[in-house]
Amino acid sequence: MTVQERIDWLDEARIGAALARADHVEDAAQVREILSKARTLGGLSEDDVAVLLSVKDPALTHELYDAARFVKTEIYGPRIVLFAPLYFSNICTNECVYCAFRRSNHELDRKVLSMDEIEAETAALIDQGHKRLLLIGGEAFPKGGFQYLIDAIERIYSVKRGRGEIRRININVAPLSVDQFRQLKAAQIGTYQLFQETYHRKTYAEMHLDGPKADFDWRASAIDRAMEAGIDDVGLGPLFGLADWRFEVLALMQHIAHLEAKFGVGCHTISAPRMEPAVGSEVSLHPPHLVSDEDFKRIVAILRLAVPYTGLIMSTRETPEMRRETLELGVSQISGGSRTNPGGYATPAEEQAAQFTRGDHRSLDEVVRDVAACGHVPSFCTACYRMGRTGADFMDLAKPGLIREMCGPNAISSFMEYMLDYGSGDTNAAGERAIAGEVATMEPKLKRYSETMMRKVREGKRDVFR
Ligand code: SF4
Repeated sequence: MTVQERIDWLDEARIGAALARADHVEDAAQVREILSKARTLGGLSEDDVAVLLSVKDPALTHELYDAARFVKTEIYGPRIVLFAPLYFSNICTNECVYCAFRRSNHELDRKVLSMDEIEAETAALIDQGHKRLLLIGGEAFPKGGFQYLIDAIERIYSVKRGRGEIRRININVAPLSVDQFRQLKAAQIGTYQLFQETYHRKTYAEMHLDGPKADFDWRASAIDRAMEAGIDDVGLGPLFGLADWRFEVLALMQHIAHLEAKFGVGCHTISAPRMEPAVGSEVSLHPPHLVSDEDFKRIVAILRLAVPYTGLIMSTRETPEMRRETLELGVSQISGGSRTNPGGYATPAEEQAAQFTRGDHRSLDEVVRDVAACGHVPSFCTACYRMGRTGADFMDLAKPGLIREMCGPNAISSFMEYMLDYGSGDTNAAGERAIAGEVATMEPKLKRYSETMMRKVREGKRDVFR
């Protein structure tokens, strides 16, 4: 591994000064001015975000949430994208003190999936109705090295189950070289996702004791290498609970600003994982900077306002109640029916090998039913990446309204496909109501598109998108 030079875009002193100000000042007039600006859907600067971090007054918090709901609805409408993680291994060379997969944890059963087992996991996920996977594992490539990952991607895309298949594979693996990222791009991945865990260097050193991941800068520069290799949909995310969440949000803004300045586009998604108990990890039971439910909702709302066109991802770490609340405030993608242990879909009994404890144990069908019953439209669409609408191209299209105009009908058509092929009776009843509610609000042209696409799916066509 190459040792990376110190990254130059993270300014801890500036963040520290902004947080010191935020501790002492809550300027309601300034907060309201920033919320008005956010409602114009143009995003916010790091300084604006710093001001929103100061909001503690309940009435102002209410206004913050209202603005986040407005932006969410204006840009995304009711569509919520569904996906599932597929863990290929829980073997890891690193010593992250909060993670069950860390090398020295002897309480965990270790497992690396063979290609046949990856196929079995894929088949189980397709049979649930999934179309979009996140391929993820401990930070050590199993026997076969990096080629294992390429082979796994190929194998997943090759699996067909009746009319079901995986149409998009996102990847969350250890930082790679530019050449390896090029190979990932050639293997037709969707988003490359990498979490810095914490942007706070001192905390990072305390939490990552050994292994390649102990090199803060190699990790913090990985997204640059991915983008240099042509992967223009990238995903970021801190692990909330390690350092002050307000620090992480401002550092995330600096990371995004750096990517925008260097590559002309920021990140495609942000994940907001909050630390959950992990087998054999004391730190995970007592996070150094525990994030309360109220602060967690603030994180989602502030991110929604700050980067309105960036997808916000919520995993099954959170409870159904929290997931429901954050869908309103800005989350646009959720996982459903997830297992975080390798082999957990094909052999669901073996959960002791999981990375963390899940807060949401419902099946995909139950999650879909709940999402639809709340008036959202669950989406299994994978059109943009397959149509080349990625990176800056996606953002250029998104800003004039693509997400509502294209993703809206695509969400309806892909959800109809799910209902016909996998949905249970109650889920489909909730789904039909959610679709009817959304179609009723559409302008005539979009309504026509949606109805035509649904008709094609009902007639037996699959993978219908614009
Ligand atoms: S967080 Fe990732 S790198 Fe760290 S021990 Fe867990 S799997 Fe390994």
